Amino acid sequence: MVTGGAGFIGSALVRLLHADGHRIVTLDALTYAGSLNNLADVIDDERHEFVEGSICDRQLVDGLLREHRPNRLINVAAETHVDRSIDGPDAFIETNVVGTSRLLAAVRAHTAESGDALRYVQVSTDEVYGTIDDGAFREGDPYRPNSPYAASKAAADHMVRAYVRTYGLDAVITNGSNTYGPRQFPEKLIPLMTLNAIEGKQLPVYGDGRNVRDWLYVDDHARGIVAATEHGKSGESYNIGGATEMQNIDLVEKLCATLDRLQPRADGLSYSEQIAFVTDRPGHDFRYALATAKAQSELGWAPRTSFDDGFEATVAWYLQNRDWSAEISDKLYARERLGRAG
Ligand code: NAD
Repeated sequence: MVTGGAGFIGSALVRLLHADGHRIVTLDALTYAGSLNNLADVIDDERHEFVEGSICDRQLVDGLLREHRPNRLINVAAETHVDRSIDGPDAFIETNVVGTSRLLAAVRAHTAESGDALRYVQVSTDEVYGTIDDGAFREGDPYRPNSPYAASKAAADHMVRAYVRTYGLDAVITNGSNTYGPRQFPEKLIPLMTLNAIEGKQLPVYGDGRNVRDWLYVDDHARGIVAATEHGKSGESYNIGGATEMQNIDLVEKLCATLDRLQPRADGLSYSEQIAFVTDRPGHDFRYALATAKAQSELGWAPRTSFDDGFEATVAWYLQNRDWSAEISDKLYARERLGRAG
């Protein structure tokens, strides 16, 4: 069972599990960030079942566990956009903290009642560790989250740990780094900048653009989650990092150079003309970096996709799939209008 499987990373994970021959139940609330289009490859297959609903709905989750008796529950569902968490943390507490807590309680009750072996996997983020000037975070380093998003993910991880220690739940945590690839909601850096660029809009870079992120290709992230699910030790967490650190401004410059080549501006100027430095995000973490030796030695996992290859494929995907992003912005616009009317 995969929760949040209609989102960016969740849908990559569902496709990977499906290709590996698994039967999958996807539970997703289809919030603004989820789309059935992301599951188009598997949605009608007999080894896949989609259920629309929230991880906060205990009755629904209990029923699904009883009906499908999964041997793995991978929780990818979350509110994920840092800027939205700064505007309003409530939805982040509800899904990321309360939702995770309810899932854990449901898994505990189900395993006690059925005697089934059911492993719980919590997909978390490098942002729980906070920011680091030099070196890289290791598993076991203290959590020092700085945004409401990161704090809600940290709280969820602590609940997972508590369920392992207190109730003996079989669970692992993955801490993934900044992920990129096709089908990422267009409010995140790479799709936002790509679409803004070709629509002739500004490319807004926070602060001086020197913030550093470690980039991980989405399929490598999905493989890391599967490796932790299959080979991880209960109670342990695993850093899934891309080993590709870049300053945000360098990434945006690279994007402009790629677009100049793939789809040059009509006026012959570079897309970098559209870069604009904007007021920094409050509490903006300077740098994230993950040490991944543990995942390499214990899970046999390492990223396979070079940044150059993954980046080129990603930018090309957004250029070739304008309908995908157009549909998302229509849906978002309709929801926001409805919200305001309501
Ligand atoms: P996303 O926003 O693209 O997808 C989230 C999915 O969860 C959507 O399909 C949404 O509909 C669903 N969802 C939201 N609330 C739900 C609820 N209450 N019940 C059921 N479904 C719900 O996010 P993503 O980028 O794919 O991230 C997935 C996970 O990976 C998150 O837990 C995130 O913290 C983690 N992560 C993401 C990154 C990244 O760079 N994107 C990096 C590390 C970790």
